[in-house]
Amino acid sequence: MKKRFFSFAMAVSMLCLLTLTSCSAAEAPVSDRSSGAEPLAADITRAASFSDVPADAWYAEAIAYCQRNGIMSGTSAAAFEPEGSLTRAMLAAVLYRMSGSPAVSAPPAFPDTATGAWYSDAVAWAAGNRVVSGYGGGTFGVNDLTTREQAIAILWRYAGTPESGTAADVSDAAAVSAWAQAAVRWADANGLLEGMTENRQLAPKTNIKRGEIAFMLYHYLDGAASSQPGPAAGGKTLVAYFSATNTTRPLAEYAADILDADLYEIVPEVPYTDADLAYYTGGRADREQNDPAARPAISRSVENMAGCDTVFLGYPIWHGQAPRIVSTFLESYDFTGKTIIPFCTSHSSGIGSSDTNLHTLAGGADWIAGRRFAGGTDRSTMENWINSLDLPGQAAALDAVTTATGKAGFNFETKSVALNSGYEMPINGLGTYSLHGETCVNAVKSALSNGVRLIDTASAYGNEREVGQAVREAMEELGLQREEIFVITKIYPGSEMANPEQAIQACLDRLDLGYVDMMLLHHPDRNDVKAYQAMEEFVEAGTIRSLGLSNWYVKELEEFLPQVNITPALVQNEIHPYYQENDVIPYIQDLGIVVQGWYPLGGRGHTAELLGDETISGIARAHGVSSAQAILRWNLQKGVAVIPGSGNPDHIRENTELYDFELTETEMARINALDRNEKHDWY
Ligand code: NAP
Repeated sequence: MKKRFFSFAMAVSMLCLLTLTSCSAAEAPVSDRSSGAEPLAADITRAASFSDVPADAWYAEAIAYCQRNGIMSGTSAAAFEPEGSLTRAMLAAVLYRMSGSPAVSAPPAFPDTATGAWYSDAVAWAAGNRVVSGYGGGTFGVNDLTTREQAIAILWRYAGTPESGTAADVSDAAAVSAWAQAAVRWADANGLLEGMTENRQLAPKTNIKRGEIAFMLYHYLDGAASSQPGPAAGGKTLVAYFSATNTTRPLAEYAADILDADLYEIVPEVPYTDADLAYYTGGRADREQNDPAARPAISRSVENMAGCDTVFLGYPIWHGQAPRIVSTFLESYDFTGKTIIPFCTSHSSGIGSSDTNLHTLAGGADWIAGRRFAGGTDRSTMENWINSLDLPGQAAALDAVTTATGKAGFNFETKSVALNSGYEMPINGLGTYSLHGETCVNAVKSALSNGVRLIDTASAYGNEREVGQAVREAMEELGLQREEIFVITKIYPGSEMANPEQAIQACLDRLDLGYVDMMLLHHPDRNDVKAYQAMEEFVEAGTIRSLGLSNWYVKELEEFLPQVNITPALVQNEIHPYYQENDVIPYIQDLGIVVQGWYPLGGRGHTAELLGDETISGIARAHGVSSAQAILRWNLQKGVAVIPGSGNPDHIRENTELYDFELTETEMARINALDRNEKHDWY
């Protein structure tokens, strides 16, 4: 009974919500994920091996998902106890694991919690982040069983208390406690209640069962893992594979990831033992391969094959042919009108007649000639092959990708964005904070010679003279025109904003470039409106082209914008995977203002942690790029312009190479899930 409840965008935004503050900006973040958390790296196709979870049970897939992703385990090696209940401490532990089990600094402060107990960190985390609060005389209720409405409210708070205006479609909505009403509306609107609302009755005070929790968590998290549209326009792509010895499996996983496709493993009803697989022993594999009519049974089927347009089919080569179970698979469905692309793994044999023989079993399908891969083939080889295929609807899919990556009007071909001021601004540049003297001149010239066309400086950095000198020298040496280079500078609070005309003119004089492309107010200040109005006059005079703000957030913008004439073209704020500003960015972008991130790599003192983050470096490895490049690309795909700082020519060049790869939506979601609301500077 698998149902796709969420659009991918919805699931991603929910994941973003996991990281938002629960009620107001002043509250603690809901979630504080460690770098190891990868709640979306799911393979939902392998069923949990619990004796009390029948393969066709309505919760089987959800339990398999939770088990595979380390969210919930069995109550013993053999049992899951789907009908069993869950204490409040157990539920806190489940959500804590989903958050990546972040470090907790203090023990829980409830009279009924023990320091050092198995639940201590989870309860402290849940209480500290307002996911689960104490109740009844200040206790936590460690051993109290969790009711359905409590569990729903807890997950809702974990999700950042999202709004849902729709009334819940349950007959006993009136029985839901007032504090859980909004949560139940939200859960119902998102299909999370389907495992527990037989006859539309929620029975909110009933204790929730483990199978019900698994179902709810699965459908809460699953959207990002598997509901994206595949490359075929209007339909989905499925990667189906058979892998008895794990040789084909990684390639299938690469393909599913590259294609954002669903993954389905062809699992034999009777697993193959080592003896079965031993060649030329007269064993099971030998016998099946010698018998063209052999059709080993498959343990579970693809749900909604009708909704798939394109099927990639992976298998090993056994005695020159696909294992007979692949024939079983092809004969189990009607592939008429679908496109099938086979691929196989083999050390020596080609795909050869396995391809043509399988084709005959899927008569109505549009069959694209497949390819053999050696075991251990890497992801990029797989990606190149997939990109080379002439799949139906691929052009439309590529258009969709372009739209997705072109968020906030970013043009990845020209590497620029059109500002509301009418000027074009490059979307990647060089930050020059802390670069001085010759280091600064060399860094700026190195950047310009590597194609960087945006330089960010500030009066406070004390290096505008060096930046101006480097730009002039580079124009001369590289034959660049002034219009080809975009220079941003900033004036500072205090005396500069108190005497803005003088401060602005001083920037122009130090830079000595004729005009400045953009000037920002570095921070809010009591004279910021006055300073901005002075900048507006310089725009009139033509010596500043565009205006912007730095370190302005929602509240500050709400107050500031009505007081000025020229809408800022840019807001430059701290943004990196550990501090994502997912609530602020869309607000600014919706105003038609471009967002630019400072400290994109976390800022000095923090880069090692970010660049070494397992999730980021894993994603980077998958694309054959550096962690820095993966982070910068993540920013660009979110519609955030980047200005990494560097005095190292190799890094400067590396930081420009951001346009030959693309993060998948799953990878974007995995980096989004790293948000810790962890600011690396005070402003
Ligand atoms: P950052 O870009 O997050 O990190 C800079 C650090 O990363 C440097 O130590 C640099 O070392 C290293 N790095 C750069 N590229 C790398 C790569 N490819 N691989 C490994 N390490 C790499 O921090 P930031 O420079 O402080 O911030 C970026 C820019 O934002 C600043 O330069 C400034 O222009 C702007 N900013 C604005 C504000 C504001 O309030 N508006 C505040 C802070 C910063 P190497 O030199 O060795 O490459």
